[in-house]
Amino acid sequence: MFNIHTYHITPQEPCLLNADASTLQPSYPAQVALSVGLHPWHVSDDWQEAFAPVCAAAERTDVWAIGECGFDKLKAGASLAVQVEAFRAHIALAERVQKPMVIHCVKAFDELLALRKETEEAAKRVGRLPQPWVVHGFRGKPEQAKQLMTKGMLLSFGHQYNLETLRFVYASLKASSPSPSGSSFGKEEGSVNSFFLETDDLPLSVRQIYEQVARHLDVDVAHLSRLCDPRKKLFSRQIP
Ligand SMILES: [Zn+2]
Repeated sequence: MFNIHTYHITPQEPCLLNADASTLQPSYPAQVALSVGLHPWHVSDDWQEAFAPVCAAAERTDVWAIGECGFDKLKAGASLAVQVEAFRAHIALAERVQKPMVIHCVKAFDELLALRKETEEAAKRVGRLPQPWVVHGFRGKPEQAKQLMTKGMLLSFGHQYNLETLRFVYASLKASSPSPSGSSFGKEEGSVNSFFLETDDLPLSVRQIYEQVARHLDVDVAHLSRLCDPRKKLFSRQIP
């Protein structure tokens, strides 16, 4: 059961640990991969200084993703314009090191969609697909989920989510899956067709989230565990 966004290491649980790039340890337990970035709450007007260790850490092989980064209109250390500037730097970094992004987005989905479009167009000009973006802790309604997924973004759910949205996302995956076993996803080559689960900053076992979601979707935890595993789909890697 993979935890795609957490601030805590839990023994035996494979995860993407959101780590502070300026205080990284030389190595982490085998089940732990890292994401590094500047949280919008910590983006200040002189964010470039804090961004330097993020750029250095992004090259590490145990860093699998860039983030969390993004926008927060309710709580932030800088204006929206500065948050956009910092986010663009994260996009450029993710494209340079070719790693997906984990995104924090509160009430700024129009800005996010506009930047996704811009990134897609820039990637297309050099004959590439942009890196996948995972919007973490998604609590929006089904229409918003649909809008983001249509634009190539992926969603991650934590302990609080809109139940209707969760069911909608699951149903749309099932509908587009070529295999009844649910083992093969992806409508077109290069696209990732899945959703993910996380504990975020809560000191929980991700098993609790998987069990809650499995109950809500009326599926078994083993099935969900395969479906929501980003290792092959998103990262093309394997850890224990
Ligand atoms: Zn967040």
